[in-house]
Amino acid sequence: MPSPVTVVGGGIAGLACARALMPAGGAVRVLDRGHRPGGRMASRTMRGGRVVDIGASYLTASDGSAFAGVVAGWVQRGLARPWTDTFAVAGPGGIERTTTGPVRYAAPGGLRSLVADLAADVDVRREQTVEQVRPGPTVDGEPVAAAVLAMPDPQASRLLDPATADRLLGERPWEPALAVVLGFDRRCWPADLHGAFVHDDDTIAWIADDGDRRGDAAPVLVAHTTPGFAGAHLADPDATAPAVTAAVTRVLGLDAAPDWTTVHRWTFARPTDPRPEPYGLVDGIGACGDGWAAPSRVEAAWTSGTALGRALAETT
Ligand SMILES: Cc1cc2nc3c(=O)[nH]c(=O)nc-3n(C[C@H](O)[C@H](O)[C@H](O)COP(=O)(O)OP(=O)(O)OC[C@H]3O[C@@H](n4cnc5c(N)ncnc54)[C@H](O)[C@@H]3O)c2cc1C
Repeated sequence: MPSPVTVVGGGIAGLACARALMPAGGAVRVLDRGHRPGGRMASRTMRGGRVVDIGASYLTASDGSAFAGVVAGWVQRGLARPWTDTFAVAGPGGIERTTTGPVRYAAPGGLRSLVADLAADVDVRREQTVEQVRPGPTVDGEPVAAAVLAMPDPQASRLLDPATADRLLGERPWEPALAVVLGFDRRCWPADLHGAFVHDDDTIAWIADDGDRRGDAAPVLVAHTTPGFAGAHLADPDATAPAVTAAVTRVLGLDAAPDWTTVHRWTFARPTDPRPEPYGLVDGIGACGDGWAAPSRVEAAWTSGTALGRALAETT
Protein backbone atom coordinates (compact mmCIF):
# COMPACT_ATOMS: atom_id res chain seq x y z
CA MET A 1 0.00 0.00 0.00
CA PRO A 2 1.55 3.35 -1.00
CA SER A 3 2.19 6.12 1.51
CA PRO A 4 -0.23 9.07 1.56
CA VAL A 5 -0.32 11.84 -1.00
CA THR A 6 2.96 13.59 -0.36
CA VAL A 7 3.24 17.32 -0.89
CA VAL A 8 6.82 18.51 -1.17
CA GLY A 9 6.94 22.18 -0.17
CA GLY A 10 5.32 23.84 2.81
CA GLY A 11 4.67 27.27 1.35
CA ILE A 12 1.13 28.56 0.89
CA ALA A 13 0.61 26.44 -2.27
CA GLY A 14 1.59 23.19 -0.58
CA LEU A 15 -0.55 23.89 2.47
CA ALA A 16 -3.53 24.91 0.32
CA CYS A 17 -3.14 21.68 -1.65
CA ALA A 18 -3.00 19.57 1.50
CA ARG A 19 -6.04 21.31 3.00
CA ALA A 20 -8.05 20.78 -0.18
CA LEU A 21 -7.33 17.05 0.03
CA MET A 22 -8.26 16.66 3.70
CA PRO A 23 -12.06 17.14 3.53
CA ALA A 24 -12.17 14.32 0.97
CA GLY A 25 -10.76 12.07 3.70
CA GLY A 26 -7.50 11.70 1.84
CA ALA A 27 -4.37 11.01 3.87
CA VAL A 28 -1.80 13.69 3.10
CA ARG A 29 1.51 14.82 4.49
CA VAL A 30 3.63 17.86 3.69
CA LEU A 31 7.43 17.68 3.66
CA ASP A 32 9.43 20.91 3.86
CA ARG A 33 13.15 21.41 4.11
CA GLY A 34 12.81 24.51 6.30
CA HIS A 35 12.60 24.82 10.08
CA ARG A 36 9.06 26.13 9.73
CA PRO A 37 6.53 26.20 6.91
CA GLY A 38 6.07 29.47 5.02
CA GLY A 39 8.43 29.43 2.05
CA ARG A 40 8.60 32.85 0.44
CA MET A 41 5.97 34.20 2.86
CA ALA A 42 9.02 34.57 5.07
CA SER A 43 9.14 36.41 8.37
CA ARG A 44 12.40 36.40 10.29
CA THR A 45 12.93 37.43 13.90
CA MET A 46 15.50 40.25 14.06
CA ARG A 47 16.72 42.89 16.52
CA GLY A 48 14.78 43.03 19.76
CA GLY A 49 12.84 39.88 18.87
CA ARG A 50 10.77 41.74 16.30
CA VAL A 51 9.61 39.89 13.20
CA VAL A 52 10.34 41.39 9.75
CA ASP A 53 8.83 40.24 6.46
CA ILE A 54 11.74 39.44 4.15
CA GLY A 55 9.87 37.66 1.34
CA ALA A 56 6.44 38.63 0.05
CA SER A 57 5.59 42.20 1.04
CA TYR A 58 1.84 41.86 1.18
CA LEU A 59 -0.98 39.90 -0.37
CA THR A 60 -3.98 40.81 -2.44
CA ALA A 61 -7.28 38.98 -2.94
CA SER A 62 -9.49 39.26 -6.03
CA ASP A 63 -13.04 40.42 -5.32
CA GLY A 64 -15.41 37.50 -4.76
CA SER A 65 -12.68 34.84 -4.99
CA ALA A 66 -12.41 31.87 -2.64
CA PHE A 67 -9.09 33.29 -1.47
CA ALA A 68 -10.86 36.54 -0.51
CA GLY A 69 -12.94 34.42 1.88
CA VAL A 70 -9.79 32.97 3.44
CA VAL A 71 -8.30 36.45 3.84
CA ALA A 72 -11.53 37.77 5.37
CA GLY A 73 -11.32 34.97 7.94
CA TRP A 74 -7.75 35.95 8.79
CA VAL A 75 -8.77 39.59 9.17
CA GLN A 76 -11.67 38.63 11.42
CA ARG A 77 -9.32 36.63 13.65
CA GLY A 78 -6.73 39.44 13.75
CA LEU A 79 -4.13 37.42 11.82
CA ALA A 80 -4.19 39.72 8.78
CA ARG A 81 -4.93 43.44 8.42
CA PRO A 82 -5.83 45.64 5.48
CA TRP A 83 -2.65 47.68 5.07
CA THR A 84 -3.15 50.23 2.31
CA ASP A 85 -4.28 50.71 -1.28
CA THR A 86 -1.87 53.58 -1.95
CA PHE A 87 1.87 53.58 -2.49
CA ALA A 88 4.41 56.15 -3.59
CA VAL A 89 5.93 55.95 -7.04
CA ALA A 90 9.56 57.03 -7.15
CA GLY A 91 12.33 57.44 -9.66
CA PRO A 92 16.04 57.22 -8.86
CA GLY A 93 15.94 60.84 -7.71
CA GLY A 94 12.98 60.69 -5.35
CA ILE A 95 9.24 60.29 -4.88
CA GLU A 96 7.21 61.60 -7.82
CA ARG A 97 3.57 60.73 -7.12
CA THR A 98 1.29 58.16 -5.54
CA THR A 99 -0.66 55.31 -7.12
CA THR A 100 -3.78 53.59 -5.88
CA GLY A 101 -4.67 49.95 -6.49
CA PRO A 102 -6.25 47.00 -4.68
CA VAL A 103 -6.16 46.73 -0.90
CA ARG A 104 -2.91 45.14 0.22
CA TYR A 105 -3.07 42.93 3.28
CA ALA A 106 -0.26 42.44 5.79
CA ALA A 107 0.01 40.35 8.94
CA PRO A 108 0.80 41.73 12.42
CA GLY A 109 2.72 38.51 13.15
CA GLY A 110 4.42 38.48 9.76
CA LEU A 111 3.11 36.77 6.61
CA ARG A 112 4.58 33.45 7.67
CA SER A 113 1.99 33.37 10.47
CA LEU A 114 -0.73 32.98 7.81
CA VAL A 115 0.91 29.85 6.40
CA ALA A 116 1.34 28.59 9.97
CA ASP A 117 -2.40 29.04 10.39
CA LEU A 118 -3.08 26.91 7.31
CA ALA A 119 -0.63 24.32 8.65
CA ALA A 120 -2.30 24.07 12.06
CA ASP A 121 -4.10 20.74 11.53
CA VAL A 122 -1.98 19.38 8.68
CA ASP A 123 0.69 16.68 9.01
CA VAL A 124 3.72 18.86 8.24
CA ARG A 125 7.18 17.30 8.55
CA ARG A 126 9.87 19.94 8.92
CA GLU A 127 13.56 19.81 7.99
CA GLN A 128 12.83 17.10 5.39
CA THR A 129 14.75 17.80 2.20
CA VAL A 130 13.42 15.66 -0.63
CA GLU A 131 16.00 14.63 -3.20
CA GLN A 132 14.04 12.69 -5.83
CA VAL A 133 10.49 12.42 -7.15
CA ARG A 134 10.09 9.78 -9.83
CA PRO A 135 7.29 8.27 -11.94
CA GLY A 136 5.40 5.62 -9.99
CA PRO A 137 5.16 7.97 -8.24
CA THR A 138 7.86 7.69 -5.60
CA VAL A 139 9.33 10.24 -3.22
CA ASP A 140 12.93 9.41 -2.33
CA GLY A 141 12.23 5.84 -3.39
CA GLU A 142 9.04 5.43 -1.34
CA PRO A 143 5.84 4.69 -3.30
CA VAL A 144 3.16 7.35 -2.65
CA ALA A 145 -0.47 7.72 -3.73
CA ALA A 146 0.49 10.94 -5.53
CA ALA A 147 3.36 13.42 -5.29
CA VAL A 148 3.00 17.19 -5.41
CA LEU A 149 5.82 19.63 -6.08
CA ALA A 150 4.76 22.94 -4.53
CA MET A 151 7.78 25.14 -5.15
CA PRO A 152 9.43 27.28 -7.85
CA ASP A 153 9.95 25.42 -11.14
CA PRO A 154 13.77 25.39 -10.98
CA GLN A 155 13.64 23.74 -7.53
CA ALA A 156 11.02 21.22 -8.69
CA SER A 157 12.97 20.37 -11.86
CA ARG A 158 15.97 19.27 -9.82
CA LEU A 159 13.90 16.56 -8.14
CA LEU A 160 12.58 15.07 -11.39
CA ASP A 161 14.15 13.03 -14.17
CA PRO A 162 14.66 15.18 -17.28
CA ALA A 163 11.77 13.64 -19.27
CA THR A 164 9.21 14.19 -16.49
CA ALA A 165 10.55 17.69 -15.81
CA ASP A 166 10.10 18.51 -19.47
CA ARG A 167 6.52 17.17 -19.62
CA LEU A 168 5.40 18.68 -16.33
CA LEU A 169 7.26 21.97 -16.25
CA GLY A 170 9.12 22.72 -19.46
CA GLU A 171 11.61 25.59 -19.30
CA ARG A 172 10.47 28.84 -17.74
CA PRO A 173 12.74 31.53 -16.38
CA TRP A 174 12.51 32.72 -12.78
CA GLU A 175 14.10 35.92 -11.55
CA PRO A 176 16.05 36.60 -8.37
CA ALA A 177 15.71 39.35 -5.76
CA LEU A 178 17.62 40.47 -2.70
CA ALA A 179 15.65 41.72 0.30
CA VAL A 180 17.60 44.20 2.40
CA VAL A 181 16.28 45.09 5.86
CA LEU A 182 17.31 48.53 7.21
CA GLY A 183 16.77 49.20 10.92
CA PHE A 184 16.89 52.82 12.15
CA ASP A 185 16.79 54.42 15.60
CA ARG A 186 13.80 56.54 14.52
CA ARG A 187 11.36 56.87 11.65
CA CYS A 188 12.97 59.35 9.24
CA TRP A 189 10.73 59.07 6.17
CA PRO A 190 7.31 60.53 5.30
CA ALA A 191 4.59 59.24 7.66
CA ASP A 192 2.28 58.45 4.74
CA LEU A 193 4.85 56.45 2.75
CA HIS A 194 3.52 52.87 3.30
CA GLY A 195 5.73 51.68 0.46
CA ALA A 196 7.29 52.92 -2.76
CA PHE A 197 7.57 51.38 -6.21
CA VAL A 198 10.92 52.55 -7.58
CA HIS A 199 11.12 52.85 -11.35
CA ASP A 200 14.18 53.21 -13.60
CA ASP A 201 16.64 52.52 -10.81
CA ASP A 202 19.48 50.03 -11.34
CA THR A 203 19.54 48.89 -7.72
CA ILE A 204 16.11 48.86 -6.05
CA ALA A 205 12.57 48.25 -7.28
CA TRP A 206 10.52 48.50 -4.09
CA ILE A 207 10.71 49.82 -0.52
CA ALA A 208 8.25 48.75 2.20
CA ASP A 209 7.70 50.43 5.56
CA ASP A 210 7.68 47.28 7.70
CA GLY A 211 6.52 49.10 10.86
CA ASP A 212 3.61 50.58 8.96
CA ARG A 213 2.48 47.32 7.38
CA ARG A 214 2.87 45.29 10.56
CA GLY A 215 1.12 48.01 12.58
CA ASP A 216 3.73 48.62 15.30
CA ALA A 217 5.42 51.70 13.73
CA ALA A 218 8.88 50.17 14.16
CA PRO A 219 11.57 52.16 12.30
CA VAL A 220 12.32 49.39 9.81
CA LEU A 221 12.35 49.48 6.00
CA VAL A 222 12.70 46.52 3.63
CA ALA A 223 14.04 47.20 0.14
CA HIS A 224 13.84 44.70 -2.73
CA THR A 225 16.44 44.94 -5.45
CA THR A 226 15.89 44.72 -9.17
CA PRO A 227 16.37 41.25 -10.70
CA GLY A 228 19.43 42.49 -12.59
CA PHE A 229 21.14 43.80 -9.46
CA ALA A 230 20.30 40.59 -7.57
CA GLY A 231 21.57 38.42 -10.42
CA ALA A 232 24.91 40.21 -10.38
CA HIS A 233 25.34 39.69 -6.61
CA LEU A 234 23.95 36.21 -5.89
CA ALA A 235 27.39 34.94 -4.90
CA ASP A 236 27.91 37.59 -2.21
CA PRO A 237 24.57 39.18 -1.27
CA ASP A 238 25.81 40.59 2.06
CA ALA A 239 28.19 42.88 0.18
CA THR A 240 25.23 44.75 -1.34
CA ALA A 241 24.00 46.38 1.88
CA PRO A 242 25.92 49.70 1.36
CA ALA A 243 24.72 50.10 -2.26
CA VAL A 244 21.10 49.33 -1.33
CA THR A 245 21.28 51.67 1.68
CA ALA A 246 22.60 54.43 -0.60
CA ALA A 247 19.77 53.84 -3.08
CA VAL A 248 17.08 53.91 -0.36
CA THR A 249 18.63 57.06 1.16
CA ARG A 250 18.63 58.76 -2.24
CA VAL A 251 15.09 57.74 -3.22
CA LEU A 252 13.48 58.64 0.13
CA GLY A 253 15.75 61.62 0.90
CA LEU A 254 16.63 60.18 4.32
CA ASP A 255 18.58 62.31 6.79
CA ALA A 256 19.79 59.37 8.92
CA ALA A 257 21.71 56.16 8.30
CA PRO A 258 20.40 52.75 9.39
CA ASP A 259 21.79 51.29 12.63
CA TRP A 260 21.81 47.82 11.14
CA THR A 261 21.11 46.00 7.89
CA THR A 262 20.47 42.38 6.92
CA VAL A 263 20.38 40.87 3.42
CA HIS A 264 18.37 37.86 2.30
CA ARG A 265 18.90 36.20 -1.10
CA TRP A 266 15.96 34.85 -3.11
CA THR A 267 17.49 32.99 -6.03
CA PHE A 268 14.02 32.16 -7.39
CA ALA A 269 11.85 35.06 -6.26
CA ARG A 270 9.19 34.98 -8.94
CA PRO A 271 8.40 33.55 -12.38
CA THR A 272 8.85 35.99 -15.24
CA ASP A 273 6.09 34.30 -17.22
CA PRO A 274 3.60 32.39 -15.01
CA ARG A 275 1.22 30.00 -16.75
CA PRO A 276 -2.52 30.64 -16.94
CA GLU A 277 -3.27 26.95 -16.21
CA PRO A 278 -3.99 26.29 -12.51
CA TYR A 279 -1.56 23.37 -12.05
CA GLY A 280 0.31 20.58 -13.83
CA LEU A 281 -0.33 16.85 -13.36
CA VAL A 282 1.53 14.03 -15.13
CA ASP A 283 1.37 10.36 -14.09
CA GLY A 284 0.51 11.08 -10.45
CA ILE A 285 3.07 13.87 -10.07
CA GLY A 286 1.52 17.30 -9.67
CA ALA A 287 3.04 20.78 -9.71
CA CYS A 288 1.50 23.90 -8.19
CA GLY A 289 2.51 27.31 -6.86
CA ASP A 290 2.87 30.82 -8.21
CA GLY A 291 4.30 29.54 -11.47
CA TRP A 292 0.66 28.69 -12.23
CA ALA A 293 -2.72 30.46 -12.12
CA ALA A 294 -1.29 33.77 -13.39
CA PRO A 295 -1.24 36.66 -12.80
CA SER A 296 -1.26 37.21 -9.05
CA ARG A 297 1.30 35.78 -6.67
CA VAL A 298 0.39 34.71 -3.11
CA GLU A 299 -3.18 34.46 -4.32
CA ALA A 300 -2.06 32.47 -7.37
CA ALA A 301 -0.08 30.06 -5.21
CA TRP A 302 -3.10 29.42 -2.94
CA THR A 303 -5.45 29.10 -5.92
CA SER A 304 -3.09 26.72 -7.70
CA GLY A 305 -2.53 24.51 -4.66
CA THR A 306 -6.24 24.38 -3.89
CA ALA A 307 -7.12 23.43 -7.48
CA LEU A 308 -4.52 20.65 -7.59
CA GLY A 309 -5.65 19.31 -4.19
CA ARG A 310 -9.25 19.17 -5.39
CA ALA A 311 -8.23 17.38 -8.59
CA LEU A 312 -6.20 14.82 -6.64
CA ALA A 313 -9.07 14.31 -4.18
CA GLU A 314 -11.15 13.08 -7.10
CA THR A 315 -8.53 10.73 -8.50
CA THR A 316 -6.59 9.25 -5.57
C1 LIG B 1 11.23 39.16 -2.52
C2 LIG B 1 9.83 38.68 -2.82
C3 LIG B 1 8.78 39.59 -2.82
C4 LIG B 1 7.48 39.15 -3.07
N1 LIG B 1 6.45 40.04 -2.96
C5 LIG B 1 5.19 39.60 -3.11
C6 LIG B 1 4.09 40.47 -2.86
O1 LIG B 1 4.27 41.61 -2.44
N2 LIG B 1 2.83 40.00 -3.06
C7 LIG B 1 2.60 38.71 -3.48
O2 LIG B 1 1.43 38.33 -3.63
N3 LIG B 1 3.63 37.86 -3.68
C8 LIG B 1 4.90 38.27 -3.50
N4 LIG B 1 5.94 37.41 -3.67
C9 LIG B 1 5.66 36.06 -4.16
C10 LIG B 1 5.11 35.14 -3.06
O3 LIG B 1 6.00 35.10 -1.98
C11 LIG B 1 4.90 33.77 -3.67
O4 LIG B 1 3.99 33.87 -4.75
C12 LIG B 1 4.32 32.71 -2.73
O5 LIG B 1 4.83 32.82 -1.42
C13 LIG B 1 4.65 31.36 -3.37
O6 LIG B 1 4.25 30.30 -2.53
P1 LIG B 1 4.57 28.81 -2.97
O7 LIG B 1 3.96 27.94 -1.94
O8 LIG B 1 4.18 28.62 -4.39
O9 LIG B 1 6.15 28.67 -2.97
P2 LIG B 1 7.20 28.87 -1.77
O10 LIG B 1 6.67 29.82 -0.77
O11 LIG B 1 8.51 29.16 -2.41
O12 LIG B 1 7.26 27.43 -1.06
C14 LIG B 1 8.07 26.41 -1.54
C15 LIG B 1 8.49 25.53 -0.36
O13 LIG B 1 9.17 24.38 -0.87
C16 LIG B 1 10.20 24.04 0.02
N5 LIG B 1 11.15 23.22 -0.71
C17 LIG B 1 11.85 23.56 -1.83
N6 LIG B 1 12.61 22.51 -2.24
C18 LIG B 1 12.39 21.51 -1.35
C19 LIG B 1 12.88 20.18 -1.23
N7 LIG B 1 13.77 19.65 -2.11
N8 LIG B 1 12.44 19.40 -0.20
C20 LIG B 1 11.55 19.90 0.70
N9 LIG B 1 11.04 21.17 0.64
C21 LIG B 1 11.46 21.95 -0.39
C22 LIG B 1 10.75 25.38 0.49
O14 LIG B 1 11.40 25.25 1.75
C23 LIG B 1 9.46 26.23 0.58
O15 LIG B 1 8.95 26.25 1.90
C24 LIG B 1 7.24 37.80 -3.39
C25 LIG B 1 8.31 36.89 -3.38
C26 LIG B 1 9.59 37.32 -3.10
C27 LIG B 1 10.71 36.33 -3.03
